[in-house]
Formats: sequence, C-alpha cells, structure tokens
Amino acid sequence: MEAGHASVPFLLGLIVTAGVLVPVLLRMRAAVAEARADTQAAHPQVQALQNANAKLQEDLSFLTRFLKDFPRLARELYNNLGERQIPGVLLSTVQRSLDPQQVAVLVRRQETARPNDKPTSARFVVVAAYPENGPVRLGTEVPVDTGEIGFVAESQIVATRQDLEAEEVTNRLRPGPGLSGMLRPDLIAPLVFDRETLGAIVVARPRKSGDPKAALRLVAQSGAQVLHTAAQMTRIKHTAEMDGLTRVFNKNHMEQTLNELVYRAACAAYDQRDGEPGKVKHGLSVFLFDIDNFKNYNDANGHLTGDNLLLELATLVQRSVRKEDVFGRFGGEEFLLVLPHTSGDQALIVAEKVRKLIASHPFPFGDRQPLGRLSVSGGVAAYPDDGLDAGAMLRRADEALYEAKKQGRNRVRPSVGVAAAMAPPAREAASA
Ligand code: GH3
Ligand code: MG
Ligand code: MG
Repeated sequence: MEAGHASVPFLLGLIVTAGVLVPVLLRMRAAVAEARADTQAAHPQVQALQNANAKLQEDLSFLTRFLKDFPRLARELYNNLGERQIPGVLLSTVQRSLDPQQVAVLVRRQETARPNDKPTSARFVVVAAYPENGPVRLGTEVPVDTGEIGFVAESQIVATRQDLEAEEVTNRLRPGPGLSGMLRPDLIAPLVFDRETLGAIVVARPRKSGDPKAALRLVAQSGAQVLHTAAQMTRIKHTAEMDGLTRVFNKNHMEQTLNELVYRAACAAYDQRDGEPGKVKHGLSVFLFDIDNFKNYNDANGHLTGDNLLLELATLVQRSVRKEDVFGRFGGEEFLLVLPHTSGDQALIVAEKVRKLIASHPFPFGDRQPLGRLSVSGGVAAYPDDGLDAGAMLRRADEALYEAKKQGRNRVRPSVGVAAAMAPPAREAASA
C-alpha cells in the first residue's frame, strides 16, 4: 500500500510532464520537418549561387590570364609600329587570349591608289586573318554600312552572336553580305577612335571560356588608338612629300626618291659587274619637262587659270604613267618623271608619249598659246650614262631641256649621255 501511495505523485508528475513535453516535442518535430522542407526548397538556389560563383571564378581567372598578357600587347602595339604591322599584332593577341577557330582584322579603306586617282567608296578590307592561308583571304572586302560587321561599325559596340540575333528583329541591322570564308561570327568588335570606326575584329568559335567579350573590347580599344596614331603619322608623312597645288610629289620627295633609286641602281650594277658588258639591266632614267610659254598663259588667262592648268596637267600625266614610275612637281611649271628599270632610249619613248599626250589634250585656252596648243619641252637623262649621282643626271636633263626650248619647244631631247649610248641609227633618228 505504501508503495501504491508513493507512486501516485510519480504518476501525476509523469502525466503533467508528458502533458507539457508532448506538445513541445510535437512542435519541435514540426519545426524540424519545416526546416527540412526549407532546406530542400533552398537547394536549387544554393546550386544556382554555386554555379554563378564558379562562372565568376572562371571569368576572373580568364581575365587575370588576359590581363597578364595585356602588357605584351601594349608593348608590341606601342613599339612604334607602322600602320601595316598593327593588324598582325591584334590578330595574334586575339588568338592567344580567345583561341578561336577563326579571326579576321579589317580596316576601313577609302583611299586613292595614287595621287590624283579618283577616291573609291569606303569599305572594310581584311588585312590580317587566322588561320593563315585559310578560307578568309586577305584583301576580301565587306560593306561598311550593312550586314553584321556594318551594324557593329555603325553602332560602335562590341556584339556577341546573341546581341546580333536580337538586333536582327529590329530594323537597325540592315541585311548585307557577311565576310566570305568566315563562319558565323560569335563576336565582332569595332575599332573606334574619336567616334570614328577605323576597322573591326571578327571572331568565330572562341575556345576559351570566360569573358571573351570584355577581352576583345580591351584589345579593340587599344588597337584603335594605335591604329589612329599610325594613320596620322602616315598622313603627316604624306602631306610632307606632296605638292599642295598639283597633288603630285614635291621637289623634296622627288630628290630623295631619285637619290635612293640611284643608290639601288648602283648596287644592282655592282652585283652584275661580271655580266655582259654594256648591258645595263637595272637602268634608271629621268624626264625633266617644263611648260612652254607659261608666262604667256598666266598673262592671258590669269594666275588662277594658270594654277588650274598646273593641276590638270599633273593629273593627266600622273594617270598615264606606270605604277613604279615616280612623278612630281620640280619647280613652278617644271615636272620630273623618274623611270626605274628604264634605259635612256626606252625613256625617250616614254617622254615622247607624255609630250604628245599633253600636246593633244584640250586644256582650256590652249589654242591661244603661241604654238597653238599647250605644250611642254623636256630632256631625258640616264644612269650611268650621264653620271653616277642624282645631281649629275638632273643637270644633264636640264641641259637637254634647254636644247629642246632652243630648238623651238614642244619637243623632247636626249642628254649628252643618252645620245652617246644610243645605237647610231637611233641617234640619227633622234637628232633629226
Ligand atoms: P618657256 O617656254 O621658255 O618655259 O617660257 P615660260 O613663259 O614658261 O617661262 P618663264 O620662266 O619665263 O615663266 C614661267 C612662268 O611660270 C612664270 C610664273 O609666273 C609661272 N609660274 C610658276 N609657278 C607658278 C604657279 O604656281 N602658278 C602659276 N599660275 N604660275 C606659275
Ligand atoms: Mg616654262
Ligand atoms: Mg620654267
């Protein structure tokens, strides 16, 4: 009985304890279940965060690697490169950093091949391409205002394939031909300097993961800046060697060129010294000519008309000569044509053609000149017949020019050296 009495408070205590504990336990169990459900629900978010983190890590390591390589690009680019070398440096940087299947570097062209040639319409031209000798040929052209490359050039933003496809639905991307030989580009970066698009870099299938768009943007920005500077240098050099009025080379450039060509002819002659004597394979000749009665032309028609005539005459001659010939203004109304790889007798034929071309051209007021037409008189001299330096050749050409004036103008005379080197029948014909 004692024991029975004693167990009553114990049982009561147990009931009370259980009454308190069970709801607590039940609540705890519910909380655990809830927490488990929460964890399960959070799983995809955690996964997404982990993925994003991995992607960031990848981008970071790609950009780190790229930035480590960047000083090399800068060093290569700023190393006083000429305009022609820059695209090659950009190409190899893109190759190293993106490891793409194809790359092409294009530059905008709108130049004339030679002074006084008509300017062509603007286009992009491939100046460097990877793989070398691959399907994208150097010199391939694309329009500057249509197609994907044209779109990037006009919008001046780096575009991925996704960007380009998104743009296809807008009207901003005007359809146009792609780059022949190139896969569908995955990335196109414009080369922009001072709001001007100088070119573009086109990339297909980059094999390095990371952030190729950011990397390409950096390469393109640096490239554009250096390309601009180099182009400016070329322009300055070009301006320094051109005559402002007639747009052909000036005297300074002509003298420099002639000196250089004389040196080359001398080297070639030395190399061939054991060859057939008397046969100069690497000849070099000059044709110096002067407008006849030009003072009269100015007096009759005004100095401005005289200026226009100088330009028209220079343009006419420039367009008629061979690509390797160098033509320039040598004085007020005096011009010089330098003919590489041309012997004295061949040069006389060229000079005669130029003289006839001018004499038969309908220049304004030409018929009012004393000879009834606008004409020139000139002298031809040659290396080595007239001396071994540029000065000697020019003096002899000038003497021959003076002879031509004396004999009545509108004619070409050979120099003493050229006349002596000619075979007797030709000499007789020339002096007739
Ligand atoms: P010749 O047949 O003997 O060469 O006679 P010419 O009248 O051509 O020769 P001269 O040396 O007496 O005169 C050359 C003229 O060329 C005088 C000068 O006014 C003119 N002249 C030189 N440079 C220019 C120029 O830039 N523009 C114009 N309009 N005339 C020029
Ligand atoms: Mg004259
Ligand atoms: Mg003169």
